[in-house]
Amino acid sequence: METVRFDELQLDERILRAVTDMGFEAASPIQAQAIPVQMEGRDVVGQAQTGTGKTAAFGIPLLQKINPDSKKLQAIALCPTRELAIQVAEEIRRLAKYMHGIKVLPIYGGQDIVRQIRGLKDGTQIVIGTPGRVMDHMRRKTIRCDHIHTVIMDEADEMLNMGFLEDMETILSQLPEERQTVMFSATMPVEIQNIARRFQKEPVMVKVVKKELTVPKVTQYYYEVKPKTKVEVMCRLLDMYAPKLSVAFCNTKKQVDELVQDLQGRGYFAEGLHGDLKQMQRDRVMSSFRNGTTEILVATDVAARGIDVDNVEAVFNYDIPQDDEYYVHRIGRTGRAGKDGIAFSLVVGKEVYKLRDIQRYCKTKIIPQAIPSLDDITAIKAEKIMEQVMELINETDLTKTVNFIEKKILEEEECTSLDVAAALLKLAMGEENEDVIDCSRPARSLDDLDRYGRDSRTGRGKGGRGSRDGRYGRYDREDREDMARLFVNIGKNQNIRPGDVLGAVAGESGISGKMVGSIDMYDNYTFVEVPREYADAVLRAMKDVKIKGKNVHVEKANGRGR
Ligand code: AMP
Repeated sequence: METVRFDELQLDERILRAVTDMGFEAASPIQAQAIPVQMEGRDVVGQAQTGTGKTAAFGIPLLQKINPDSKKLQAIALCPTRELAIQVAEEIRRLAKYMHGIKVLPIYGGQDIVRQIRGLKDGTQIVIGTPGRVMDHMRRKTIRCDHIHTVIMDEADEMLNMGFLEDMETILSQLPEERQTVMFSATMPVEIQNIARRFQKEPVMVKVVKKELTVPKVTQYYYEVKPKTKVEVMCRLLDMYAPKLSVAFCNTKKQVDELVQDLQGRGYFAEGLHGDLKQMQRDRVMSSFRNGTTEILVATDVAARGIDVDNVEAVFNYDIPQDDEYYVHRIGRTGRAGKDGIAFSLVVGKEVYKLRDIQRYCKTKIIPQAIPSLDDITAIKAEKIMEQVMELINETDLTKTVNFIEKKILEEEECTSLDVAAALLKLAMGEENEDVIDCSRPARSLDDLDRYGRDSRTGRGKGGRGSRDGRYGRYDREDREDMARLFVNIGKNQNIRPGDVLGAVAGESGISGKMVGSIDMYDNYTFVEVPREYADAVLRAMKDVKIKGKNVHVEKANGRGR
């Protein structure tokens, strides 16, 4: 596993500074490959999904090309959803932190168009937008294409899946001939390959070549967590499994420092290891870990490379690794020298799909688990204390202590010896906390997630084109009370596919495509489920909308069937 440092990539010094501020230690594998090719000016097809560092992979070379002195629009990045457009714009802004005069504007359906027009007139050089809204601005001439030299399609397969193919084609055909065209996609269906053929010039295909990976025999669990509860969940796992030595992996130096601080603040013996440490500090951290004074070593992938410690009992993927190979290296830190090892991965939101891919490529099994509740931990703590108590009873002379307690009980006559034992146990276990994390649901099985991330556990339709019975859906039955059903007055006979409806609902209202529930398509009408709390906003956004050029009317469904 070769590491490419950002300072080897001949980047603008201001971008290097920004990357350092973001805490990136080294280029991720997809960045190491894509950045030089894109910087040469070649067209690129990158196969990578969320979490691999793909945004910076196309964002860094893009920024290298932007002329901050020209206030003309120079680049467009197309994204399938509002959520992603905002995320991409934020990441590019972070990378452009020290490049004064560069303006990045996300534009998407559902947002006030007048505000967007004002933003576009204000010297924006980079637009990150959803296809529908970008086309709208092109039609109004509020987006002018003559100075665009770079176009990026992010999550191209997802745009396809959401029915944006025609929009993408229309946009691409209106851009200047002389341009660089970059496309990133997690998968490469034939339609994506066709776009590459039609709209790119001798594109270079960039993907991380998978090596044959031998996964160590380590029990692997994963937990679906919220960003805010990550530290708490990790602490519960530490309390529950009580590993003597563990290594926790983070993707950035910044995250290493934060996690160390959080763990130390909660009383754990944790130390960090990353590239900013001097050799002397590294040696000190490592020797403290080897002799057990430090119980949790928090490290980046690069820094952990040289570590050779045999008795690591647990590995935590505090951040999901950016590459399958990293995963295998990480979990290989435990289970050495014939000992049992355990690996815990904490997954937030969409990262579950990255973990699913890791499981697939590594041909391993990562088992979903419910987050341990405080009751679980209390029970385990009590059991451990009781084991120590039994040891004391069996191995020491307690006569004096027994006499003391007997005297106390006889004197006070208000409690029994059982009360005293229970109170002492409680004291030994420390404070009780209120359980603020929902521990009732285990994580989903990774095998149940289909390609587009919809949950097939419910047996409901898969996402993607040509889904069974035209049904899309990811929300479980239990969640359906939170969903509102909307009626749309077009269906199969009008040549509409579920993806078109999904694209229109998500694109216009700005809600994420993943939040849209089932789409039941009939000959002349369609029912689509959206989260109840967004139903009115969706209805407002869908007021004067066309789907595939046809006027549609959307209303709340009522009664049976409607
Ligand atoms: P993406 O694949 O673009 O969605 O990126 C996922 C996350 O990885 C984002 O939070 C990025 O800021 C972060 N990231 C991107 N490149 C690196 C890197 N070289 N090292 C560490 N984190 C990175």
